[in-house]
Amino acid sequence: MRIIFIGPPGAGKGTQAEKIIAKYKPAHLSTGDMLRAARDAKTPIGLEADKYMSGGQLVPDDVIIGIISERLQAPDCQVGYLLDGFPRTIAQAEALDKMLAEKGTPLDVVLELRVPDEELFKRLAGRGRADDKPEVIRERLVAYNKQTSPLLDYYNKQGLLKTIDGLGSVDEIFVRVEKILDQYN
Ligand code: ADP
Repeated sequence: MRIIFIGPPGAGKGTQAEKIIAKYKPAHLSTGDMLRAARDAKTPIGLEADKYMSGGQLVPDDVIIGIISERLQAPDCQVGYLLDGFPRTIAQAEALDKMLAEKGTPLDVVLELRVPDEELFKRLAGRGRADDKPEVIRERLVAYNKQTSPLLDYYNKQGLLKTIDGLGSVDEIFVRVEKILDQYN
C-alpha cells in the first residue's frame, strides 16, 4: 500500500503512524524524523534545514523533494510506504505525482487526521520538543493552515482523500484508520 498521512502538528499522527507501521508494515517515511536526524548529525542539509525548523517554517521544497525522491528508490519502499509529513505544499504534491507517474506506482489513499485548532494548541503546549515553544507552535499551525491544508482539496479532487476524526482515544482512532486501510491490504 502507498499511503499519504496528513494532519496538523499535534493531531496524533506520530502515534497512529506507529500503529499503522506495526499492523500493515509499510516503510515509514517521516520527513520530520529524517530532517531531525540530519540536523543532529550536522550534515550540510541538516544544518540548512534547522534554520527553518527551529522557527516553525517549512524547509524549501527542492531540499525535501530531493530527499524523498532518493528515499523512494530504496528496496523497502517497493512493497509500500507511509508518507508522514510529506507532501506539505502543492509544489511537493505535484513533484510526487510526477515521480509516481514515472514509476507507474499511483497512491492508494490519502488519510487526513482532523483535529480542531483549539485542541491542537492545548495538546502541543504539553509536549517538550525544541520546536514546541508557543510562538513556534503558532508558526507551525499557520504553516499547516496556509501551505498544507490546500492539499486536502488537491487530493479530494483526485478522489483519494479520506478524513478521520482525530478526537477520541488512541485505540478508538485506530479503529477508524483500520476501517479504511483494511481495504487496501
Ligand atoms: P509536525 O509535528 O509539525 O508535524 P514534523 O516532525 O513533521 O512536525 O516536521 C518538523 C519540521 O520539519 C517542520 O516544522 C518543518 O520545518 C520541517 N519539515 C518536515 N517535513 C517537511 C516538508 N515536507 N516540507 C518542508 N518542511 C518540512
